Amino acid sequence: MSITSTCKGCRDDYKVTDAQISRILASPMFNPGNTAPDDVYAARLALCASCPKLQDGVTCIACGCIIPVVAKLKERGCPLPGGGLWQPVAE
Ligand code: SF4
Repeated sequence: MSITSTCKGCRDDYKVTDAQISRILASPMFNPGNTAPDDVYAARLALCASCPKLQDGVTCIACGCIIPVVAKLKERGCPLPGGGLWQPVAE
């Protein structure tokens, strides 16, 4: 019997794919009433892309969130102390 020391969360078959993210973003929850404008979404993704907390280009290790998904939600904000690098969209 072989024992692997690889955490299953780090295995490739547990990584979130672009297709999975697209499927989530196409769900009814991501309607215009809940989502950030495209320019805000792009700015959030750019900030996360340069942040050392972003793992594998999709997961924020500060909150465990899938960034391409949560950055689309207007009420979400970066979890870093002091208000984070990006904030909820003001109403
Ligand atoms: S949400 Fe904040 S802490 Fe997480 S990756 Fe983006 S900028 Fe970094």
